[in-house]
Amino acid sequence: MHEPALFAPGGQEPVARIECRGGRRFAWLYRIDLAKPKIPMTFAKEAALDNAMAVRQTCPGPCGRRYFHCLPLKTLGSCLECYDGTPADPATYPAPPARHLLAA
Ligand SMILES: [Zn+2]
Repeated sequence: MHEPALFAPGGQEPVARIECRGGRRFAWLYRIDLAKPKIPMTFAKEAALDNAMAVRQTCPGPCGRRYFHCLPLKTLGSCLECYDGTPADPATYPAPPARHLLAA
């Protein structure tokens, strides 16, 4: 008996087959770690990248904001607002988490 595999992730052989209703319906089981080896890797890379970006975008000063852009930490050591009082453009950082965004 030969059943053609319609879906073979990663070209691997199925590790098991589930049958129900006396074999009239069945499903192939694949090992998910073999089928998608790249996803955890990419996610880990993105998480590491995001951490690195967070350090460069988060102001260590009193405001503690994370901006959408990198801060001049090597020269000013904080955002412009904490450095010399220049108000930061609200468009350059997310809305304060304390404020309820859905409040009317
Ligand atoms: Zn700041």
